[in-house]
Amino acid sequence: MARKKTSRYPVICIDCGSPARIESSNKLDIKVTEKYCACSNIEHCGATFVLTVSFSRHLNPPMKTTRQIAMELLRSIPEAERLALQRDLFSS
Ligand SMILES: [Zn+2]
Repeated sequence: MARKKTSRYPVICIDCGSPARIESSNKLDIKVTEKYCACSNIEHCGATFVLTVSFSRHLNPPMKTTRQIAMELLRSIPEAERLALQRDLFSS
């Protein structure tokens, strides 16, 4: 799916289609924020509304250290395989 580039004013009033501005935000948790918006068409609309902005997914995961990657891989395999790997790595 193609992503549309956003403008400086990405919020559009859901009632009249005019640009709307974000007046304030309320962070619900690290991945979800409410945006309190006001329509700029004050003369003919004047609606205020709340948008919920939430994290969806990474397009590119954050960089991790080699140690973090190794630890995640080790935790993902069954204990017996982990112990066998440990023996292979440290015996010689
Ligand atoms: Zn409006």
